[in-house]
Amino acid sequence: MQTVSRLKTGPSPWQEELARSFRNIDQLLDYLQLDKGQRQPKPATGIQFPFRVTPAFAGKMRKGDMNDPLLRQVLPLTEEMKDQPGFSQNPVGDLEARATRGVLHKYRNRILLLETGACAINCRYCFRRNFPYSENQLGQASRQKAIAYLQSHSEVREVIISGGDPLMTANSGLGELVESISRIHHVERLRIHTRIPTVLPSRIDSELVRIMSRSRLKTVIVAHINHPNEIDQEVENALKPLLEAGIRLFNQAVLLKGINDSPEVLRELLETTFDIGINPYYLHLLDRATGTAHFEVTKEKALFLQEELRKNLPGYLLPRFVREIPGESYKTPL
Ligand code: SF4
Repeated sequence: MQTVSRLKTGPSPWQEELARSFRNIDQLLDYLQLDKGQRQPKPATGIQFPFRVTPAFAGKMRKGDMNDPLLRQVLPLTEEMKDQPGFSQNPVGDLEARATRGVLHKYRNRILLLETGACAINCRYCFRRNFPYSENQLGQASRQKAIAYLQSHSEVREVIISGGDPLMTANSGLGELVESISRIHHVERLRIHTRIPTVLPSRIDSELVRIMSRSRLKTVIVAHINHPNEIDQEVENALKPLLEAGIRLFNQAVLLKGINDSPEVLRELLETTFDIGINPYYLHLLDRATGTAHFEVTKEKALFLQEELRKNLPGYLLPRFVREIPGESYKTPL
């Protein structure tokens, strides 16, 4: 993970909040009023993928509950250190899709830019937890090359800015990137993949809304929210200006064992996100990254959950259950 981009004029309120993040597991567990005797399963230390949780995300965890579904998304466990057959460092073929530094070209008319390796929280199930960002993120230095690649590929209609979390980039840098993309005539849509709405809602400031809404590109934000407890009034308030500016919001979640693998939790997630203006998009089966096996939900269970949701929700609230198979030209429906 990299450090966040800096503003020459000093940190923004969201950057100050980010600086107050928990980087130490014991500090978070103390804050959650979990005394040493209650810390089961025992958290693991010394894992290469670092621990990082924002105050906003920690504030939504239940006090005194080691099995809180938000805590379990970020809590390092010894299971992460076990090698499991079928799990790899490069689970979705990102490295094979690398077109130039910071650019992945997997699907014919869409391109993905890896703007930064930085994230506001580190999710233990992350499919890019082992990704070599230091050689593959875009950053300021490689942007020109990436834009030249985009210009030379007239079949590309949509640019996805991802990471890491692209909203970790300061407004100045993000604004320049969006501006450069919007000058390429054959690009029509811009998509941002981000975990920010529920983990650092203060990041969605008025300048960000302006950057997103003034562009000629049709802009879509795909949030990543896995559990209804991630949503509160602050999240709703943060998203409102984006909706008012005409930005379309979708959600993709990951199916996670012990966190959201029940019909009730998923139904509440889909209804709550819809209530605050976010439409369902994907429900991903876990990408099999090394260190994440303990989060995997079986295909049979996923099919059961899909069926239960079909029975209990209107069609427009149903996400597509998919998995990513390396080398396939689209996400594979379950
Ligand atoms: S899932 Fe997203 S926000 Fe979480 S660590 Fe991975 S890239 Fe970062």
